[in-house]
Amino acid sequence: MHIAIVGGGVVGVTTAWELVRRGHRVTLLERHQMAGNETSKGNAAQRSYGVVYPWADPAMVFKAVPWLFQTDGPLKLRVPPSVDAIRFMFATLRYAWSPGMFGLNKRAMLRLGIHSRERFLALEQEHDLAFDGDHKGLLHLASTPEAMEEYREIHGLLGELGIASRLLTAEQVREAEPGMTGDGPLFGAISYDTDGTGDCHLFSRELARVCEGLGVSFHYGVEVERLAFDADTVQAVEYRAADGKRQSLAADAFVICAGCWSPGLVRPLGLNLPIYPIKGYSITATLTDTAKAPVSTVHDDHLKVVSTRLGSRLRATGFVELAGFNRDIPEARIETIKKSVRSRFPGCADLTMAETWTGFRPMTPDGPAIIGRGPRENLFLNTGHGTFGWTLSAGSASVIAQLIDGEEPSVPLDAFRPGRFQE
Ligand SMILES: Cc1cc2nc3c(=O)[nH]c(=O)nc-3n(C[C@H](O)[C@H](O)[C@H](O)COP(=O)(O)OP(=O)(O)OC[C@H]3O[C@@H](n4cnc5c(N)ncnc54)[C@H](O)[C@@H]3O)c2cc1C
Repeated sequence: MHIAIVGGGVVGVTTAWELVRRGHRVTLLERHQMAGNETSKGNAAQRSYGVVYPWADPAMVFKAVPWLFQTDGPLKLRVPPSVDAIRFMFATLRYAWSPGMFGLNKRAMLRLGIHSRERFLALEQEHDLAFDGDHKGLLHLASTPEAMEEYREIHGLLGELGIASRLLTAEQVREAEPGMTGDGPLFGAISYDTDGTGDCHLFSRELARVCEGLGVSFHYGVEVERLAFDADTVQAVEYRAADGKRQSLAADAFVICAGCWSPGLVRPLGLNLPIYPIKGYSITATLTDTAKAPVSTVHDDHLKVVSTRLGSRLRATGFVELAGFNRDIPEARIETIKKSVRSRFPGCADLTMAETWTGFRPMTPDGPAIIGRGPRENLFLNTGHGTFGWTLSAGSASVIAQLIDGEEPSVPLDAFRPGRFQE
């Protein structure tokens, strides 16, 4: 089968890899000049299979309101909020308060996380990819005794699902992360021992190189404008090529992996995807003292900043901001991220030289990604991965390939069904 993929972020590239290995002819269209150059570029670099959870979290709703009024608070809302932002927040509240939904969705995402880890390990065994990837675990710090109580509950659920985790005292945390000599509050942590890290941008580029070797055709610098379809099938993607000319590419099946830009492509087919671009920021700095740096990846629950070791670099990220597709990088946001790094890993890097970045999480109002068949028999969606697209990319690519080939997916996909927002 000839399959066209729209979008060359980490989700599109992993999808291309799964499909070409199954013997399909694959063409991928991407508007940037390279793979992984949009949201997949500067993320927190965590492959946090054991930490995936839905955005619509009933416990978060009450914490979120005070955060909005704190200078360093992790949640920001552009004032006045747009109609889209208000609509998205109301939809989130509706899902958060639907009895039982958070638990069901969290279990579904964790199952996909387990599968994703398996697929990453298989992929990394098959190909030698240089992306500063590792599986040295993940720590969620507790800066209050209450946070430790929450981790105890999470530890219980993970045990039920067979996902390894440990509760650590503050002393054990310092043993695991000897560079953590800062004065940030610390009451312990939960450790996700089988989780990992890796530069998602480098991974996407490296895997795209492998895919090219396997025969995938990459069309870079092209903007897909619309899908050509009739009542039963999608026939082609119509795109503007790098030279500005309009062109059409016919295929037997189509997979939309266009992240935040997916809704506009499928709206003409009658499918509503309420994906909102949740903005975040990151800094990347060269380490000046590796002994003072994180060993792996550490989530500081105090300022909600993640610090991750990527080879000889430090990546630190933070903020959840509803501001539409606004690419400004306010100095205050970057300062908060640096403050967290200084309070946990002082002296590990020269933060004045850090590279700054902003990107948009393709968030659904409930939380699970959108994975499944679209409103035409040969149209498939693998998008809306929100906070966890790097972590879940390998698993979601695997299950969408299984669906395309008419196989039973390794993970139940009910929570991820594309039509759920219209039910
Ligand atoms: C601050 C921050 C921290 C994060 N940290 C983590 C983390 O630690 N772990 C984790 O798992 N996830 C993390 N994420 C989320 C993760 O980065 C995303 O979920 C993931 O990158 C989404 O991948 P994607 O391929 O779906 O989207 P993208 O990377 O955005 O790729 C979509 C691609 O489609 C292309 N495209 C769109 N429309 C068109 C069109 N019409 N024509 C041609 N091309 C098109 C775009 O150019 C883009 O390259 C983080 C996100 C942010 C913002």
